[in-house]
Amino acid sequence: MRRYNARTKKVQPDDLKDPYMSAIEYKDMDVCRVCRNIYHNKRWVKDNDLFERLMKKPEKVSYTVCPSCRKIETHYFEGIVELKGDFLFEHKDEILNLIKNTEKRADYINPLYRIGDIEIDEKDKTIRLATTSADLAQRIGKNIEKAYEGVLGLSFSDDNKLVRVHWER
Ligand SMILES: [Zn+2]
Repeated sequence: MRRYNARTKKVQPDDLKDPYMSAIEYKDMDVCRVCRNIYHNKRWVKDNDLFERLMKKPEKVSYTVCPSCRKIETHYFEGIVELKGDFLFEHKDEILNLIKNTEKRADYINPLYRIGDIEIDEKDKTIRLATTSADLAQRIGKNIEKAYEGVLGLSFSDDNKLVRVHWER
């Protein structure tokens, strides 16, 4: 079984900034070499047309790693989702598709909402995954509950920076 690693952020009460967002100065039109998101107009966007245009002059492209890919690389997550039960494994592929589609839809809202490792434990009838945003973890839980009922629980860390979503059926 893979190591399951999640940390809460160390934040000061007045620190509202995401350390991963502010750690690096990004330049306009920087391209993430991992996910191909582009930093444009002070935000990260997923824009295939813009990407194609930039690739016409590959020597001018400046590559970087976006905050979300850095979070995934360093196992820094804000949401943990744990799913459990026999029903889950009877509908495993469907539910995994629902999870992937939830991530894809979240992309339109914020391309930094992403899923890290997905750990499937057949013996324990458990699927665990981590997300780079608390919001995405909650969306996944709510979408599964909406589609398949079951029992959904949410809990937050003391500093509200890590959400744990538990669903069982
Ligand atoms: Zn990226």
